[in-house]
Amino acid sequence: MHEYSLIQSLVTRVEAEAAARRATVVHRLVVSIGELAGVDPELFQTAYDTFRAGTICEKAPLELRRVPARWACPSCGKEIGKGEVLTCEGCALPARVAPGGDEILLETIEMEVP
Ligand SMILES: [Zn+2]
Repeated sequence: MHEYSLIQSLVTRVEAEAAARRATVVHRLVVSIGELAGVDPELFQTAYDTFRAGTICEKAPLELRRVPARWACPSCGKEIGKGEVLTCEGCALPARVAPGGDEILLETIEMEVP
């Protein structure tokens, strides 16, 4: 499943960050998920809870933040609201998804460094 491979790379990244800082325990993770990232937050959470056993994330709850999708004009940067025509009135250009709206970002790793 899509979510499982995402979790796998997430945990691998956390393990690398923890190793780089010689951390022994990870206490908490915060991940933001863009509305258009194509990820089901519930599945993501379930996949994480299944996968984290035996990893450095075993005791780290995962906090998910949903990032609503926003659109903006690539030329003038004007934001275009949901439900409106996704074209900039001034530039006649099609709007693009603003940063964050289609991404999965590892925002915070709380870890214990002895
Ligand atoms: Zn524009």
